[in-house]
Amino acid sequence: MSLGKAMIHARKQKSVAKVTAVAGDHAALQSSHILQMPVLVLNASYEPINICGARRALVLVLKGIARTEEEHGLTLHAQRSRIAMPSVIRLLEYRRIPYQTRALSRKNILLRDRNSCQYCGVVLPSSELTLDHVIPRSRGGSSSWENLVACCHACNRRKGNRLLAEMDDMGLLREPRPFSLHTSRQIMRMLGRGDDRWRKYLFY
Ligand SMILES: [Zn+2]
Repeated sequence: MSLGKAMIHARKQKSVAKVTAVAGDHAALQSSHILQMPVLVLNASYEPINICGARRALVLVLKGIARTEEEHGLTLHAQRSRIAMPSVIRLLEYRRIPYQTRALSRKNILLRDRNSCQYCGVVLPSSELTLDHVIPRSRGGSSSWENLVACCHACNRRKGNRLLAEMDDMGLLREPRPFSLHTSRQIMRMLGRGDDRWRKYLFY
């Protein structure tokens, strides 16, 4: 069985495919969980450009678009095939990365604001945060990177339909900006801080 077929097979039979630590502690994890683990993506030049899920990373490796630079230390077992899970992959062909912004979405706004309320600074899980229009929609505010911020429910209620200029006890901690490649790097660094396999590519 080819690795590609093994992957598909593993995907179809999640209950059969188990992932075990190579160290041999045999603590089996569901492959679905392991296939969602974050993998750092490097350009051909070793420049970090993205983070993707392990499943997508494996597809890129199996298709010959990328190669594994660092292994995770875990192996996906599918029938008689063993696939080393990547922690860092590198594209084989250099890709020009345009300085375009990412899609405007709730998820990306929360990522940009690092899940912290931009008025009081409290850090909360995504489910406990809302998005606030800095200039309320009812007063002509747009849904844009510059006008949307992560906000806790308490601050959202307090601010209501007012403009910041009308309040003397509330202000933005940071000016909201579009999600740039620079923002992505900050997030990659934050995620990779504790992982030596990522560190060497992120801190240079
Ligand atoms: Zn708040």
